[in-house]
Amino acid sequence: MFAPSTSFRLKERNALATITAALSLPEFQAGSVWLAGAGPGDPGLITALGLHAIAEADTILYDALANPALLRFAHPRAKLIYAGKRRGKASAAQSDISRTLVALARKGKRVLRLKGGDPFVFGRGAEEALALARASIPFRIVPGVTAGIGGLAYAGIPVTHRETNHVVTFITGHGADGNLPELDWQALSIASPTLVLYMALAHAEEIARKLIEAGRASNQPAAIISDATCDNQKVRVTTLASLGADARECTAPAILVVGENVKLRDGLDWLGSLSGRLLDPDPLKVEGFRRVS
Ligand code: SAH
Repeated sequence: MFAPSTSFRLKERNALATITAALSLPEFQAGSVWLAGAGPGDPGLITALGLHAIAEADTILYDALANPALLRFAHPRAKLIYAGKRRGKASAAQSDISRTLVALARKGKRVLRLKGGDPFVFGRGAEEALALARASIPFRIVPGVTAGIGGLAYAGIPVTHRETNHVVTFITGHGADGNLPELDWQALSIASPTLVLYMALAHAEEIARKLIEAGRASNQPAAIISDATCDNQKVRVTTLASLGADARECTAPAILVVGENVKLRDGLDWLGSLSGRLLDPDPLKVEGFRRVS
């Protein structure tokens, strides 16, 4: 991890203090816990409130998906605790994390729980906040840019667009038991022209099959965005029929998106255009496009 000199840190912290004052950000009270979203990867996507929380916290429990570059804004004496949970890797038990948050707050610490994306989107933030509520610990929720929105934006895929979808559904592919949750795929298929799927790489084939069985066109566009918003972001555009096979070649973390809005990437891949991609000014005028009302 990048280790800045103390004077560099001091300058950054002073700059942050100026922003905190200018925006009248709330004081991080001793004995309280803030559950904050770090955004999906690009450190620039954290909120001002999130950055303020990092600078002020005595202890930071951070997730695997929170960009460690952000931690350089922590106070030099702040305690940084890794509390990540990644598939197949050693994981901190959820109850242990909640207990640690409560114990530290009771010791009078300013405790920051820093999570990837948004703490309330498939992030178990509510479970931790409920544990705090039960223990009468004051807490604040600091929202973040969720991967299913920020990741799509960095792929040049709008989450909604009038010509393609008036509805978007966020789905987790990972139920409490690790399997695909029991969902009404028929209803989803009909009611939601755009589906954004988290933690779904391993079940992509099954998901695509269920959607096609439910009547979704097998040539409907889909995309897989790995390491979204990070320097190594990869976007694979495919179809529903090929989603499973393509998913096997992609790496986690990844967001899956199924819907006609994926076609807009041809016109909106702003990141690609920065390295020379020519954008199509009229990306929806492609064969097979149907207006979804
Ligand atoms: N609270 C987080 C989601 C946590 S669940 C949020 O709001 O974004 C973890 C899942 O989020 C991953 O399996 C993946 O589907 C998605 N995810 C998080 N960060 C991602 C990234 N940088 N790129 C792609 N997917 C990401």
